[in-house]
Amino acid sequence: MDSAHVESDLINILFTEEQIQAKLQEMADRIAADYEGQDLLMVGVLRGAVMVMADLSRSLGRHVEMDWMAVSSYGSGTKSSGVVRILKDLDTDISGRHVLVVDEIIDTGLTLSWLISNLSSRNPASVEIATLLRKPEALSMPVEPKYVGWDIPNEFVVGYGLDYKERYRNLRDIGTLAPHVYS
Ligand code: 5GP
Ligand code: MG
Ligand code: MG
Repeated sequence: MDSAHVESDLINILFTEEQIQAKLQEMADRIAADYEGQDLLMVGVLRGAVMVMADLSRSLGRHVEMDWMAVSSYGSGTKSSGVVRILKDLDTDISGRHVLVVDEIIDTGLTLSWLISNLSSRNPASVEIATLLRKPEALSMPVEPKYVGWDIPNEFVVGYGLDYKERYRNLRDIGTLAPHVYS
């Protein structure tokens, strides 16, 4: 792939950088209000949530701790493997802590419902979820993210942390890929 053509592989931009930043500021304002006077530990789900974590945390305007987990849910392509396992665990003891799991997208909800029950067993004071995007299938899962940026149709999107075969994470916008990318 010619790296000069990264942006032009996107055929349909769903959300621009400006829209994403405005949405994250809205979410941050709600989070800052809800956790006022409480300590907050944000847990980012690697690798997709890196951009959301960076921008959401900086929009909070308050002290916050950050930690990271890596779990496997998808292979290198676009299909869910249905398997969740911990590739990197937290460095932080979360017992008694207010935990906010930060993710970029919930598709089937499989990954996060597994993660939430795993984190809940560690006796945190609370666990909530903030996700930038949510797909329709997630609505039928027991997991209820408290903070959702946008509900999107069931399409495979890339950019702003979201990859296709580990590429496109570094795009500033979110969109769908041109068919030629897949062939
Ligand atoms: P779930 O377990 O909710 O089905 O999937 C969660 C993970 O699958 C996300 O954190 C993300 O890594 C990946 N994923 C789900 N939908 C998409 C998508 O439309 N685009 C990309 N790039 N990854 C997705
Ligand atoms: Mg993710
Ligand atoms: Mg991926």
